[in-house]
Formats: sequence, structure tokens, C-alpha cells
Amino acid sequence: MVSIFKKAKCVTKLQQVIFCLSTITISFASQAQEITAENFLKKLKGHYQSTNMIDNFSINYESTGKFGPQSYDYKKATASFSRRIMDVDSKNKSYFLHNTRGGFPGGFIFETKEFQKDMQRYRYDVNGVLYGKRVLELDTKFGFQYQLDELNEVVDVFAIKSLLESEMSGDTVHTKIDKTSNRVMVVQNNIRLGKLTYQFKLKPLQLVSLHNEKNDQLFTYSHHVSINGIDYASRVGMKESHHQREFLIESLAKSMNIPAMKLTIPMGYGPIVEKEKKALKTEKITKNLYLISNVRDRYVAFKVDDMGITVFGAPGSDKQSKEIMAHINKQFPMKKITSVYITHHHSDHIGGLNYYAQQGVTILADDYSITAIKAYRKFTDNISQFQFRTFKHKELINGVRFYIPENSHAKGQSFAYFEDAQVIYEGDLLEIPFDNTIAAHMSETEKQFVEFVRMENIKIKRIIGHHRNGNISPDVMNAYYEANVGSKMAMKSMMTK
Ligand SMILES: [Zn+2]
Repeated sequence: MVSIFKKAKCVTKLQQVIFCLSTITISFASQAQEITAENFLKKLKGHYQSTNMIDNFSINYESTGKFGPQSYDYKKATASFSRRIMDVDSKNKSYFLHNTRGGFPGGFIFETKEFQKDMQRYRYDVNGVLYGKRVLELDTKFGFQYQLDELNEVVDVFAIKSLLESEMSGDTVHTKIDKTSNRVMVVQNNIRLGKLTYQFKLKPLQLVSLHNEKNDQLFTYSHHVSINGIDYASRVGMKESHHQREFLIESLAKSMNIPAMKLTIPMGYGPIVEKEKKALKTEKITKNLYLISNVRDRYVAFKVDDMGITVFGAPGSDKQSKEIMAHINKQFPMKKITSVYITHHHSDHIGGLNYYAQQGVTILADDYSITAIKAYRKFTDNISQFQFRTFKHKELINGVRFYIPENSHAKGQSFAYFEDAQVIYEGDLLEIPFDNTIAAHMSETEKQFVEFVRMENIKIKRIIGHHRNGNISPDVMNAYYEANVGSKMAMKSMMTK
């Protein structure tokens, strides 16, 4: 500003005065524009005006994270990813999401599509691995607003939305400007989201980080890009106490209404599975082997004999284990639950062990899984109460043979074979949807499992899958293998001929 005045050639005194006056006005204006704690929100609002108005948009992003309790070896966390392609219509509170999850040990790929429209929310499967042709009716509690809350933290231009609306919502906001570091810190107390701490950079004005006290999550924003008229951070990091994720936003653009086709269940899908929780149900498989269904979408088996009751599978939570134990005890009040078997160390298969341990039930597992259970943070406080019984590969315990085959999903992973009944109980070794759809993708782990039972000549009448299907027939297992491996092998041999 000053340099312009110096360089200006003033012809007359009057002109010089006018120029002088106008310069003063400009410099006053620029003085007024300087960022202060008082005007910061206003400045922010002006800066994000165009993006704050976006109601309809499309986003494509990938999220990667490492989580030891879902890795092959709990000590070496491997990264899993989720690719989310999403259309959002804020005015009509509807969205469409194409979600592909992969990178799990063993090469599993889960691909689903879901949408919410008119307060109804549905999800269906793309490759058929999880639900086959069935459609899940989902709780809208985790629908539109829940999905938007994630985006509101991941996308920086949306992350500041609640701050920009703070005047209207009546939230208390404290702003502190640090001129030496060129940073602004803003603390907002929001009724729904709790205490939010924002760090901004000045020149250019950008959100650097957001801390959410309620979930103790810290988001950091970097690699700002300007695409389709929107300036946003394309790389976002998220850290919480024992977990971290990274988000890569590939595209973000304003869009028109979501195409009607995306908000409809496609032809050929059905029936719709209602979201209501069903009561636990027991089915008798053979004279002493029983199966409990409606453990959400999981299956827990139990065997009753002279030694007592052995439970197979301990997913979820202590609450779930309590319900299952009560359910069994009600049917067999004279028998004692003595042990509980788990197939592998992954968190969703051991999550309910604490309650069993507290009831004096012995945990039956291979050596590696026992080591992993002892190291699992959730059990640290009560680990002294845990009692274990281990088994070796092919060991027969009370009519049940335990196999620990080579596999790529989890170290030490085993399955149980009920010799008399010719029934296998397994978790994550074979994923068949409830309606026995032959999925278009088969993981490496599943191929290894099928090849193992064939090689060992294990006679099978029925396979109880821990997830989703408690009654897999050998015919379905074989058809799944042939569809994904057999035909490709035949093709390969034809090509080489
Ligand atoms: Zn697993």
C-alpha cells in the first residue's frame, strides 16, 4: 500500500490530496480486515462461503488403517482399507454409498452398496460374499447424520461447518490468535459434538487440525488442492488413543440430485431382512451338538456330554456372552459350562471372553491365540482370572478333533471337527452367505481351507460358519470353489495347451 503511494505521480496538489485521502481510507480498511479474535469467525465465514453452501455433493475417498487385533500376527499390524464412493443430498437427507473393504489378511474383499431415502435405509452386496442376494434393512440411527458426521470430520471444508453455525446454535466459542506462529486456535463447545478444538493457519487461511474431545480423536489436514472450485485438504490423518487412520480424498464435487437408480434396490435382490433383533434360538444338530442362531449374524455351537458343556465361539461383548450362557443354562440347568473354544485371535472372535473367564469357564485355543489373548488390551485388567487349555494340530479332545491348518488369515487359526456328527465349526475360513449364493470372489484363505479338508479327506455333512451361515453343505462349498478356482484352473490349462 505504502509503496503504491510512493510510486504514484501526483499531477496537482488537489489530486495528491484526493489520492492521499483514498489511501488512508484503504489502509484503514485493510487495518479493519486484519484478523483479530473478534472478527475471525466472520473472516472464516467469508472464506468458506461458497463451500459452506454445498448441499449436494459426490465424494470418493479411501481410508487405510492398521489394527493389530485384526492382523495375521497381532504383533505386526497390517493395513486394511475402505474405498467409499458417496453421493449426498443434504436437503432430502438421503445418500448413496458404494463401499469396498479389503486388505484384510487372507485376501477377503467385501463390497456393498447402501442408500437412505425417505427415512428408509438398505444395504446390499455387490460380489455376494456377505449377504448373497438378501437386502438388509438398516437402522437409520446410523444413517444420514451418522455418515455425515464422519465426512464432517474428514473433509476440512465441512469440518468447520458447525463452527460457522455456532452463532445460530448458541455455542460458546473462544478464539486465540498467535501472530508469531501465524496460527489461530478456536475452542467450541457444541451440545451434540462436545468440545472441539480447531487450529488454523493464516495466509493462506486453512484448517490444520481438529480435536474432538468426546472421541479423543485428532484430525490433521494437509495437501490442500483446488478442484471443481472447492479448496480442500486431500490428505487427512486421524489419531485416537490406540488407533490411527489415513484418508485420501480423490475427488469432491458439487452434484445434482442423486440418480433415482442409486436410491432403489436393484432387480434380482431380495428378500429384505428386517432390522429387528431376534431372540436367541437353539437347534439340535445331533444327539449332543446344538447350534444357537440370532447371535446377531453369527452362530455359536455347544456340545453337551459327561464332562459338561463346551461352547464354540465367543464373539461380541460380555453382554452377548452373558445372554448366551443364560440361554444355555436355562436349557441345561443340571450341566455346567466348562469351556469355550475360539477359532482365532481376531477381536471380533474373542471379544466376549472376559465374561466367560469371570464365570470360571476355561478358554480352549491353540498356543498362539492364547498368547494373543493375553496381550489383548481389553483383557489386561482381568487376565489373571483367565484359565486356558491348549491343543495341538489334529488333537482329539472329547470327540472333537482340532485342526490348525496352514492359512493366511490368522496365525494359529483352527477349526473344530465333530467326528461322530461329521460337522465342522469354523470362523473366517469359509464365508458363505445365508442364502447360499455362490459369490463372485473367493479369498486366498478360503481356497486354502477347501484344499486342506480335501487333502485330509475330512468327511463333511455340514459346516457351521461362525459368520452368517450355520448350515453350509459340502455341495455349496465345492460349487463355490469350482466357480472361483476350478474354472480358472481349467481355463489356464486350456490356454497352455
Ligand atoms: Zn478373522
